Amino acid sequence: MRLVKKARHVKKIVAQARKKGKIIGFVPTMGYLHEGHLSLIRIARRRAQFTVVSIFVNPTQFGPQEDLQRYPRDLRKDTILLKNEGVDLVFYPDRTEMYPEGYSTYVEVQDLSTILCGLSRPGHFRGVTTVVLKLFNIVQPDIAVFGRKDFQQAVIIKRMVKDFDLNIKIVTGKIIREKDGLAMSSRNTYLLEKERKNATVLYESLLWAKKAYAGGVRDPHWVTNKMRDMIENRGGKVDYVEAVDKNTLKPVKHLYRGTVIVLAAYFGKTRLIDNIVL
Ligand code: AMP
Repeated sequence: MRLVKKARHVKKIVAQARKKGKIIGFVPTMGYLHEGHLSLIRIARRRAQFTVVSIFVNPTQFGPQEDLQRYPRDLRKDTILLKNEGVDLVFYPDRTEMYPEGYSTYVEVQDLSTILCGLSRPGHFRGVTTVVLKLFNIVQPDIAVFGRKDFQQAVIIKRMVKDFDLNIKIVTGKIIREKDGLAMSSRNTYLLEKERKNATVLYESLLWAKKAYAGGVRDPHWVTNKMRDMIENRGGKVDYVEAVDKNTLKPVKHLYRGTVIVLAAYFGKTRLIDNIVL
């Protein structure tokens, strides 16, 4: 496994692999890796012969009041995990490699970026699409894998790939959860013991919604209001709970198969997201 910090080195190494006829798979991450990340890497490894993982805590996707400085990092542990997974190349750029002085170009997927998480995190998805497009241009993968945990992000990336005619197949991986159902996230480490216990209500409420749907409930507001109550009763502060179409992310008028229930809530200062597909 190679660990490189420079984009030009990535380009060179990947070009050599491609010359040998290898399919290039790519998994972008912000590091502090857990089983959720590793599951995506395994998907990439199954579909490609040369797997690239990037680790970059991207400053442009953090708001001024957000946790950029505090975001957990552990490159040593990450590289051991990636080596064990059989990753070929790790791209670990520093900030100036990605955003040198004078950097001024940004990509924005309109509409999809200003709803749900985009409402409480203005500019977040603009940062995500900008860094992902840059990473795509550096790595030039055939396949890139994203987690369905960040459902809105995956929809936005697919839109960007389509709109910009990028020759990259976007594959998504299912949400990997802790034993008690909490979706794995690097940010879970922020949770105090009590918050961590209460946070399981997120998945519990999603499972409850799925059951209600299976039992014949079709009113999205009835379901999401009840979910809000469930979450707030356990000390969570709801940012949003919505039933949306899986392609447009627009609120649905009645629940149907394939509707996604998406949510974001704070436990203490930590903002968590989760979702389920009906
Ligand atoms: P991050 O490092 O948080 O930016 O995440 C990198 C990639 O891993 C994104 O595509 C996320 O959607 C994905 N991911 C994060 N947590 C999970 C999880 N629990 N299950 C599946 N994928 C995940």
